[in-house]
Amino acid sequence: MAKKKRRDRGTPAVRETPRAGALAPEPEKRAEGGPARVGRRRWLAAAAALILIAAAVIVFSRRGGPGREIRREEGLNVLLVTLDTTRADHIGCYSDREARTPTIDSLAEKGVRFANAYCSVPLTLPSHASILTGLEPYHHGVHANGTYVLSPGRVTLAERLRTRGYRTAAFTASFTLDSRFGLDQGFDLYDDDLEPGSSFQSSDAERRGGEVAARFSRWLGTDDGRPFFAWVHFYDPHFPYDPPPDYRKDFAARPYDGEIAYMDSCLGQVIGALKGRGLLERTLVVLAGDHGEGLGEKVEQEHGVFIYEMAVKVPLLFYCEKRLPSGSVMEPAARTIDIVPTVLDILRIAGASVDGRSLVPAIEGRERRGREIYLESFYPRESWGWSELVGLVADGWKYVQAPRPELYDLVSDPGESKDLAGEKPDKVRELKGRLEKLLVSAPAAAGERRELSLSEQEKLRSLGYVQFAAEGGSAYPDPKDRLEDLRLYQRSVACEAAGDYPGMEGALRELLPRYAKVPAMYVDLALAQSFQKKYPEAVETLKTGLGIFPGSDFLQTRLGHTYFVMGSLPEALEAMRQALAANPYDLEALSVSATVLERLGRPDEALTHIDKALTIEPGNAALRKARGRLLGSSGRLEEAIDVFAALTRDFPDDASGYRYLGDTYALKKDYGPAVENLEIAARLRPDPIVFRHLAVCYAKMGQVAEAVQALEKYLADPGDEPAAAVRQGRAELERLKALSR
Ligand SMILES: [Zn+2]
Repeated sequence: MAKKKRRDRGTPAVRETPRAGALAPEPEKRAEGGPARVGRRRWLAAAAALILIAAAVIVFSRRGGPGREIRREEGLNVLLVTLDTTRADHIGCYSDREARTPTIDSLAEKGVRFANAYCSVPLTLPSHASILTGLEPYHHGVHANGTYVLSPGRVTLAERLRTRGYRTAAFTASFTLDSRFGLDQGFDLYDDDLEPGSSFQSSDAERRGGEVAARFSRWLGTDDGRPFFAWVHFYDPHFPYDPPPDYRKDFAARPYDGEIAYMDSCLGQVIGALKGRGLLERTLVVLAGDHGEGLGEKVEQEHGVFIYEMAVKVPLLFYCEKRLPSGSVMEPAARTIDIVPTVLDILRIAGASVDGRSLVPAIEGRERRGREIYLESFYPRESWGWSELVGLVADGWKYVQAPRPELYDLVSDPGESKDLAGEKPDKVRELKGRLEKLLVSAPAAAGERRELSLSEQEKLRSLGYVQFAAEGGSAYPDPKDRLEDLRLYQRSVACEAAGDYPGMEGALRELLPRYAKVPAMYVDLALAQSFQKKYPEAVETLKTGLGIFPGSDFLQTRLGHTYFVMGSLPEALEAMRQALAANPYDLEALSVSATVLERLGRPDEALTHIDKALTIEPGNAALRKARGRLLGSSGRLEEAIDVFAALTRDFPDDASGYRYLGDTYALKKDYGPAVENLEIAARLRPDPIVFRHLAVCYAKMGQVAEAVQALEKYLADPGDEPAAAVRQGRAELERLKALSR
């Protein structure tokens, strides 16, 4: 991701105001202003014009009047697709003429599109918690990514439908929605293992839409006749904007839109899979964004700090052949918390007591008033020590509660360029009162907080979230008074994405004096130094942080990891020991300790650590592989085979499971199953080491021709194989060829 591209797109002038489709005309206000005070003749002319306009509206947008009734039906399939980080005004049907979103546009054309839909919070986990429960954040209690878990007491749409006999599955694309954060409630299958083949650390904790779509399609093939509820999550538009090669050229100047275009093609695969199995006509499809993206408007590049329109307006549409009206465009404001009650209403399921309300009356034209929108972000408070923001959109007005409150007239000023809080104190008072009424119903501290392990923090960090609440006094500054700091931080993120690590370090060094009480600052700075291989300085940075936060396993684990990368194994082990003393369940400390112990030739102690880590995360593929390898190297081959065989069953697309299984059979001198598994591994990922091992096994079995073939493949592209192994391979090839002559 080049920094330049990002800046091109991020220039505020490019998107100073949202495009036409995103404007929020308040329907009540539009309807006002009748013919009362005009003269009679002018009145007649006006009336005639109004009739013509009304006819045009009916013809062209098929709004209003008959034909908008919904045919409710039990047992329909439900497909919920969430589009991460997708601004409504960057989609074709929301009048972005440059967008390439044919799939979304065609669903909108044949379905019901809400032109003014809002999320409650511009953060992935809290917003999805709202989408799946129909509750506002102040009721489900999840206010930020990574540090909250959806309580088991909350009821998700998946739970509601599963008890009605639905089979349920989720396919998520970001670590932010990992099952550990509680959204897996009610899903038979929660497919969130993003990196089954990888080790502990991750700088790549997301998966592309194509893989998500493929996994959904595969699951759909296991259809057993029951109705299904599936949730498909696309994460592609999230930063960094790095569309696949086919899209890079066309969207070179606006890679964010390239990601949206690519995501749309993946959605096309999902819809195609439904069509292909004849399931689309019995499926209610719901499409919703979880939040928008700043793209430099109001300084913010990504999302999370502010609750301006660019961050909280999202696409929302419903589609169901023959049961929902076709081509309806709904102007009144709607919310993503309305999805659950709407779906239940269409399925004739009663009795969900949630904050959202069914949109069926609005779709049928029986309700014309827009919904009142609650907005919040606790990210500024939790991550920066700035004030949190809460807000309310109602009757075309927007109120933002902050140390310096803001008021916008969204009808005349949809770009929120003129703050009217000083001019209209009555409006401020009214909306503040309405907001307080909502919040009074919120239970205090409803959320369950959890500690993150380092790998978790690292994954979240790699996604651009600084996760750690500042320890500070009671007075929090207004985020809009800290724009320079936000710019600096964004610079560090952009530098990191562009591989400019000195630039990243420079920006963080400038920030650190003002954020010395934010542990993540030390971690970020140490990473910037580590990227430049300035390990002793990284160690110094982390030790400074530990001087301020002596009990922080977060900093301690990062220190251990830095020592590990430096090759200082005893120091790494000692740092991890201290981290585990602070938090015995720190997954990263357990995993790295195991690796260090293995390298120090202490496999039994390593195995103890891995087993403990597996009690925390029994399904973790990387941990299970480590366990298998340790069992193998301790000579416990049968147990190792069991571990790897289970991995190939759980992750049939992951080459390394077959490779380890094949290698373990080879250790047992059981060459038949060894080559069988190594061949599968080679098919999935043609790795030189697999061909080398295959050649050895075939040679042992006396199958000279196959051994020669494997060696030739090995030597054709030996990659990073050690020179000695390549030399040996060549000699072996000569020997085998001589044998076969
Ligand atoms: Zn998101």
